[in-house]
Amino acid sequence: MDRMVLPNYLQHRLLNNKKQFMQQQQPPKLNIDLKKTTPFTCDECGNNVFQEGVLLRKASKFLTGTMQDAIVPVPVFCCSKCGHVNESFMPPDLRSADDTEDTIL
Ligand SMILES: [Zn+2]
Repeated sequence: MDRMVLPNYLQHRLLNNKKQFMQQQQPPKLNIDLKKTTPFTCDECGNNVFQEGVLLRKASKFLTGTMQDAIVPVPVFCCSKCGHVNESFMPPDLRSADDTEDTIL
């Protein structure tokens, strides 16, 4: 009798919020047969487990038009064993081999 019952429209809203929350937290699930996929391996050591890393790029204040240089984080996957970042995981703009100014560990 003292149990609180939410009005229908509120329950609905809560459900929707929860749905939105889940969608924000998880990337949309692709309907792919994993058996038809191919594994990535580290170009350096052949390891097939990767972890997330972040490349940091410095954007000069002249580029950004702000008072200070900015740090631009670029998420990449790196080998969990040796830390190597495969060329194919790099953003296309950073793939050029002549970009020797910044060395990636
Ligand atoms: Zn490796």
